[in-house]
Amino acid sequence: LMTVIGSLNMDLITCTSRVPAAGETLISQSFDTGSGGKGANQAVACARLSRIKSHQTGNVTVRLVGAVGNDNFGHDLVQGLYGDGIDTSGVQAKAGERTGAAVIIVEQQTGENRILISPNANFSLRPSDFTNLPAPLPDLIILQLEIPLDTTLQIIRIAGEHRIDVLLNPAPAQELPNWAYAAVKHLIVNESEAAIITNPKDKNPDWTKAGEHFNSIVALGAQHVIITLGARGVIYLETRQKKLWQFDAKNVEVVDTTAAGDTFVGAYAVAVMTFAKGKEDFAAAVKWANAAAAKTVERRGAQAAIPWLDEVEAYEAE
Ligand code: ADP
Repeated sequence: LMTVIGSLNMDLITCTSRVPAAGETLISQSFDTGSGGKGANQAVACARLSRIKSHQTGNVTVRLVGAVGNDNFGHDLVQGLYGDGIDTSGVQAKAGERTGAAVIIVEQQTGENRILISPNANFSLRPSDFTNLPAPLPDLIILQLEIPLDTTLQIIRIAGEHRIDVLLNPAPAQELPNWAYAAVKHLIVNESEAAIITNPKDKNPDWTKAGEHFNSIVALGAQHVIITLGARGVIYLETRQKKLWQFDAKNVEVVDTTAAGDTFVGAYAVAVMTFAKGKEDFAAAVKWANAAAAKTVERRGAQAAIPWLDEVEAYEAE
């Protein structure tokens, strides 16, 4: 069993030829809604990447713990997750709260996004809700930073007391107390998050030379540290044995990079729980997650773009 504890958001996406000025009203090119939120996206990635598209049950059970409002958005989000075979019994519909929402304005010509997130019900998760871990106890807990930071820290603390492995994806980037990094087994960061954990003097470091930052990363205390580099692929550091791997990104046609990072996290988590487990072959897990994330880049949307297991394997064989 793997449990993701994190956010659910309804994405409200509108495309425009240009962004309106203050006080101006424009007709947009399109409007659409989509299921998102890093917690929900990562749960979807875990669920889809552990089963083939035509099958409901996979070889791992995926549970999502979080909160939505008692409204239509919340209902629709949970329905979608349930359809992906996720155990949603830990997602509370909270009276008096609204479901988390992300307003996304896409400027057509440049493809540039402007995003405003309203955490809403996601921020109603308090540390006092996690004085104990939600039952049943999982083998792996997956966390991001779209719920209150003190709640995330409490979950890391209590997971440690139960000796349950934690995978932390500290996104959106925020600084954490040192003990928290040391308490997680798997740490997956992108470039801006990597800058926070290594505090480089160089403001624009070359992560492909991650060896230069090895000592500061080892000092964090997390055993497996993965730095995703977008179109430049990924770096994996095993800090106990001081080993480093680097994988180039798959050469794909980029349509929309939304949820690439979330797909990477979900794919890696599934690999850790399945084929990488006995052999402790986490480099193989990273390599596979790199292929799965590339698949997401080829499609538009957040959860809509996340592939199933058979889509990645087929892709790998191409
Ligand atoms: P985030 O979206 O969290 O900032 P990244 O941009 O680092 O994360 O992307 C996460 C992973 O997604 C990368 O390590 C890579 O595996 C894959 N990926 C992202 N962008 C591309 C791309 N242009 N081509 C191929 N793979 C990509």
